Amino acid sequence: MEDGYHHKGLRQKLAKELESKGIANQLVLNAIASVPRHLFIPMGLSNLAYKDQALPIGNDQTISQPYTVAFQTQLLDIQKGCKVLEIGTGSGYQAAVLLETGARVFTIERIKDLYNQTRTLLNSLNYFPTMFYGDGYEGKPTYGPYDRILITAAAPEIPEKLIQQLKPGGKMVIPLGKQDSQTMTLIEKNMEGQLKSSTHGLFAFVPMIKGNI
Ligand code: SAH
Repeated sequence: MEDGYHHKGLRQKLAKELESKGIANQLVLNAIASVPRHLFIPMGLSNLAYKDQALPIGNDQTISQPYTVAFQTQLLDIQKGCKVLEIGTGSGYQAAVLLETGARVFTIERIKDLYNQTRTLLNSLNYFPTMFYGDGYEGKPTYGPYDRILITAAAPEIPEKLIQQLKPGGKMVIPLGKQDSQTMTLIEKNMEGQLKSSTHGLFAFVPMIKGNI
């Protein structure tokens, strides 16, 4: 599938729409205007790629709504060269957005098919995050600690092992709660290792599930 001027125009419009919905970080808006979202979703749905909505990507999973991707990325407050661990690679769209903001990206997916498919896609688009197939609840301590940790599935509780892999001064963004609705939560770890959390509205994600398949 190609990426033409038509698509570029559509995603610039999407970035403007997200700006009007309150996304102010220019780095994030530029990333949304750069990543070809239509290439991350099934061909039959590509005409919906630049609408602000979540879409199915197979394996019972979804690509998050662009507003949600932008909101989480903005909340992460990425500085250039930040080491970011993402839980839930899914389509790879969020990972591509993180790379466009200048982050070094590590991402974990628990569904093998999705992991393989997404790795091929991201590499074909010249995106090279460090990708792992496994259970995000375990994190990846060997590559940590991380400046930022982003969870893109609904977590019933704060995964303790991920907190341990967060650097002092680091931030975690996590949708906390069950099924239909989760509270977007920002957890900040200070230099003494103490945690402070704040809440940022309600969202709906597919569940974060233990183990890998
Ligand atoms: N960031 C993705 C969103 C995908 S939806 C995107 O931009 O498209 C959430 C993803 O999290 C799904 O692919 C799901 O399989 C994955 N997931 C759920 N629980 C997980 C876990 N414990 N470890 C790793 N990935 C998980």
